[in-house]
Amino acid sequence: MTNSRRSFLVQSAAIAATPLVANSVFAQAPARKLGVAICGLGSLSTNQIAPALLKTQNCRLAGIVTGTPSKAEAWQKKYGLTAKQTYTYDNMHLMAKDKNIDIVYVVTPNALHLPHAAAAAAAGKHVFCEKPLEINSERAQQLADACSKAGVTLGVGYRLQFEPNNQECVRLAREKVLGDVKVIDANFGFAMADPNQWRLKRDLAGGGALLDVGVYCLQTARMLTGEDPIWISAAETKTDLVKFKEVDETIAWTMKFPSGVISNCVSTYAANGLAGFRAATTRGWFGLDPAYFYGGNRGKRSDGTEINMPAPDQFATELDEFAESIMQKKPTKVSAEMGISDVKYLMAIYESIRKGRPVTFA
Ligand code: NAD
Repeated sequence: MTNSRRSFLVQSAAIAATPLVANSVFAQAPARKLGVAICGLGSLSTNQIAPALLKTQNCRLAGIVTGTPSKAEAWQKKYGLTAKQTYTYDNMHLMAKDKNIDIVYVVTPNALHLPHAAAAAAAGKHVFCEKPLEINSERAQQLADACSKAGVTLGVGYRLQFEPNNQECVRLAREKVLGDVKVIDANFGFAMADPNQWRLKRDLAGGGALLDVGVYCLQTARMLTGEDPIWISAAETKTDLVKFKEVDETIAWTMKFPSGVISNCVSTYAANGLAGFRAATTRGWFGLDPAYFYGGNRGKRSDGTEINMPAPDQFATELDEFAESIMQKKPTKVSAEMGISDVKYLMAIYESIRKGRPVTFA
């Protein structure tokens, strides 16, 4: 991860990092914590997921999957893992024999989610997969099919589905606290510094800022309305044709929802400063800025009320909910269906750009 990307997400987290409030997914500690193997030891795994695992109530780090021996050694030392708990991308099938691993958390580049999730599922492990689920609808469906065929649960890493400030805004919208939501503006981006990383390569990323950060704006609009878009129109602009030769740099798109809500969104790899949303309502407005950081998300309402709730570690919370869904055999909030349908709407945004006209859904 580039420094700019890291710092924009982490800066507020550092300020707001409240000592982790034990999250209340479970009233009591479960009989057994589920073992999680992290697949892909990059930036997110190193800086967010592994530390978060130490704060979970229902999970523990039980394995790693990496192609880099030096990382394997460093993680073994740091987290007290053995060589037996260490896998490569090519021998994930051996996990089938490891009863201590229940869940594989897939944290590799977007287009590797399918092979890594399929390998984990074939080994009988539940799959928690980072966003976006995959790089197109066919692959997202294949990933979900691999999990259902193996009889394992699939969840998607939508951390904001558990973030109290984002969820407070969902409450404001659903309970019409400031009237009906009519228009939603949601924007997310950062200035991509590293010109060599996988996020700029189409075969690994599938797309650019839209798939990486635009998915959060799509999630905001779907969360606040509780609806699926019925009409999408999009336009793209590129100011650096070399860096963004293979993927999108900046996309602006509009979505219309069945209730008549309109949502305007921007995703960009060209600029910092966009990481929030505002919902305009019949009697005022509410919104968060920032809305999408790892911590420190906060905002305001038009009646003067601050939105600034203490927030536990988002990765610990999402993992605890996923583990709980497995242990209690109930659906996870961040379901395969949610991941698949988001990819469908992201693809519709690209389709609208390609065709130069809106895309509609029945
Ligand atoms: P990263 O580049 O820091 O890490 C990627 C990892 O995949 C590295 O360990 C790398 O060695 C490994 N890898 C395996 N095969 C590879 C290949 N062929 N090419 C490149 N790397 C390969 O990326 P990241 O920022 O950790 O992102 C990983 C995933 O997590 C992505 O799907 C991304 O969208 C997602 N993500 C989610 C959030 C969030 O807030 N939920 C934040 C950042 C990233």
